[in-house]
Amino acid sequence: MTKKQRALEIIERLKKEYPDADCTLDYDQAWKLLVSVRLAAQCTDARVNVVVEGLFEKYPTVNALADADVNDIEAIVRPCGLGRSKARDISACMKMLRDEFGENVPDNFDDLMKLPGVGRKSANLIMGDVFGKPAIVTDTHCIRLTNRMGLVDGIKEPKKVEMALWKIVPPEEGSNFCHRLVYHGREVCTARTSPYCDRCCLADICKKVGV
Ligand code: SF4
Repeated sequence: MTKKQRALEIIERLKKEYPDADCTLDYDQAWKLLVSVRLAAQCTDARVNVVVEGLFEKYPTVNALADADVNDIEAIVRPCGLGRSKARDISACMKMLRDEFGENVPDNFDDLMKLPGVGRKSANLIMGDVFGKPAIVTDTHCIRLTNRMGLVDGIKEPKKVEMALWKIVPPEEGSNFCHRLVYHGREVCTARTSPYCDRCCLADICKKVGV
């Protein structure tokens, strides 16, 4: 079985296992997802979803958040950790959206990467979830699972994992595949315990590297 064949089979099986998998950050507008993604660094999505309620209630638009005192943003987002740098990034990002993008989130990767606090992972998430475009989100689950599965070979650097996956994952499948890896990584192919290979739907085709 080639890597590509294994990837396609894994994609199909995970579709059946997690048919409704999607982004676990709550949002109803693209700019809000941008904020939540920044807050989610080293924080759980569940906590981010709670914290942003207060933030968006007080600052309900891009303009309002761009005008907000960065110290006030920091006070609100502190429970997510790294409050100071996250608040600075969010403030600068909203200002750039207001001043250079007409208060809209840009729909192309290169412009997204210009936004303060936005890296490849976040830009890919926005491309896939907001704009329905090809995307590969290489978070901690994606990196751990794709290595164990033998889809990539001992690669830990997010950008290199992303580039390797682009070669074997159909572009239109990438975004949802990565969401399903998150679900599978939390429930079965876990990080803090040994993975539960005995009840994994991929057990017969996974290479179980390092397991
Ligand atoms: S078989 Fe084991 S290592 Fe492979 S994906 Fe399933 S739980 Fe993870």
